[in-house]
Amino acid sequence: MVGCRLQTQQIGIISMAIKVLKRKAVVSDPVEPAVTPPPRSTETSFLTKPKISPKSRKRDMPEGLWTKCRKCAELIFDKELDDNLKVCPKCGYHFPIGARERIHSLVETCSFEEMDAMMEAVDVLKFTGAASYEAKLSANRKKSPMLRDAVVTGIGRIGPHRVALGVMDFSFLGGSMGSVVGEKLTRLVEAATDRGIPVVIISASGGARMYEGMFSLMQMAKTCGALAYHARQRLPYISILTDPTYAGVIASFATIGDLILAEPEAEIGFAGARVIKDTTQAELPEGFQTSEFLEKHGLIDSIVSRSHMRDRLIYYLDHLTAGRKLA
Ligand SMILES: [Zn+2]
Repeated sequence: MVGCRLQTQQIGIISMAIKVLKRKAVVSDPVEPAVTPPPRSTETSFLTKPKISPKSRKRDMPEGLWTKCRKCAELIFDKELDDNLKVCPKCGYHFPIGARERIHSLVETCSFEEMDAMMEAVDVLKFTGAASYEAKLSANRKKSPMLRDAVVTGIGRIGPHRVALGVMDFSFLGGSMGSVVGEKLTRLVEAATDRGIPVVIISASGGARMYEGMFSLMQMAKTCGALAYHARQRLPYISILTDPTYAGVIASFATIGDLILAEPEAEIGFAGARVIKDTTQAELPEGFQTSEFLEKHGLIDSIVSRSHMRDRLIYYLDHLTAGRKLA
């Protein structure tokens, strides 16, 4: 009897175990598919493009390695861009270039002697606006430690020609012309007149420096006066306009060159296009205030790409100084 009870107990346990196993097997059925589709409402779905904020995009792009072209949106390796004088190898867009890099691209190695390198602006008017002039100056000097103001001047050799070279730098307070820019350019032109050599000035400027009020406007007359004395000696002056050249600079020394050259697609004008449009209420023609437009209308003699600038300058200087060499 005992053996029989044991048997029935054993059978009972086995049948319970089978039931549990069966239940477990039902539970462990693959309810979830192998790849879980993401919930439709979320934006992380692989079907929709994730939205990347400009901030995170900036973070993803390693700094100092690649630059995105502003015109064709191509990613350019920074070294390639530097080797190409900051010109996009794909579409030819001319990126801004610093004064010292530009000088380096034009003059013969070790031939450039800088003038008035330590001349600095003084806040005579004690100007205060959104920020004081003093604060702006010190912030810009900190940002561009190779610059004391918005122009670098000196005498160097371009090919066989000794020239007085002034190069503006837009990165310093928008390349604005204050007392220092005006004084440095005037001294440069006077040195060229004394030595009997040509002047080449490369402009990149938003105009006169409002922080210096009337003092900045006086520079327009001062630079032009010095260039007039230079012209009396029948010495050539080549003005090169780059993106952007505006206002007090275009209204003074930048447009009185014997030859006026410009880089391609540079924005050049006196007042900005928006101001002119608002004032005149007229539709402005296509390409208004670009190098190409101004060449077509006679203000600019020739558009020269950055890579050809040195050779073209040598070519022009050969012609402009030929008679002088013979005299
Ligand atoms: Zn490009």
